[in-house]
Amino acid sequence: MTADTPFPLGQPGFVSHPIDRAAHLRTDAEKLFALEGDRKARAYVMHRDSILMTHGADGPRALLTLDEARKLGANPGTIFLGLDDGAPVFGMGIGAASTEDLMGRKDVAVENLRAVAASGAVQPRELSTIAMAKSLVGWHQRHGFCANCGTRTSMSQGGWRRDCPSCKAEHFPRTDPVVIMLVTSGDKCLMGRQSQFPPTMWSCLAGFVEAAETIEQAVQREILEESGIHCTDVRYYMTQPWPYPSSLMIGCTARATTTDITVDKTELEDARWFTRDEAAAMLAKQHPQGLTGPHPVAIAHHLLANWLAQPA
Ligand SMILES: [Zn+2]
Repeated sequence: MTADTPFPLGQPGFVSHPIDRAAHLRTDAEKLFALEGDRKARAYVMHRDSILMTHGADGPRALLTLDEARKLGANPGTIFLGLDDGAPVFGMGIGAASTEDLMGRKDVAVENLRAVAASGAVQPRELSTIAMAKSLVGWHQRHGFCANCGTRTSMSQGGWRRDCPSCKAEHFPRTDPVVIMLVTSGDKCLMGRQSQFPPTMWSCLAGFVEAAETIEQAVQREILEESGIHCTDVRYYMTQPWPYPSSLMIGCTARATTTDITVDKTELEDARWFTRDEAAAMLAKQHPQGLTGPHPVAIAHHLLANWLAQPA
């Protein structure tokens, strides 16, 4: 891995350059209204797993003025994400009908965020704020009704809460913890394939943390369920927000105490051991059979690269 990669070791996508969330402003409706009118105010406009981008003479751009966003059909509601160097940044949604109206235009496009993030079409420094916009816009779209009593809820706190006018319940955006782990056995590491992966790609195993479970237990359970491998010495490496739709990937390492793999075919297409040399070749896209590892935008790449950077 070279130093000029947009995602150097330990800095996958959605992690770097967090903005000032300025949470104290969320309760100040007057101030929020004034911030929307600030000439420096900008917005990221999200539609499901996609982001609205303009393609002008200055190249692709995701950060729009609020006027631009509304003229392109963004919904009027804004979510206050925070202050970037003092400039207010908002998240906005756009409906299916408006995104269809934009199809065929050369100067604007609604583009898949995974592709945009991996390709560098937006600066890596923008991805943390875009992840906030995506998670929150999606949450509002999916949580229009009170989970307690079924009444339509309304946005409050600058978009960081929904309130039920009937039973008075307050609903907060959720973040779902997911463990993702590199399990090693001597000079080998365990990787798996999901059927929806590109055909050559292998990656670390992962799964949701369940109710009343520790991170360590979740790592051991997921590895056992998906691969039949027992492991120990679970160690925390780093975390990564993963806004599909609103997960926190908890990157861990663990040491296998068994080696015989039994693949859970409902979860994985396959799982197997790879040597250090093979894993290094996969990350470098130089594997003799054309096998590849996870993209540097993903924490799985960094779990592997960090292991390869350690002495054998
Ligand atoms: Zn209610």
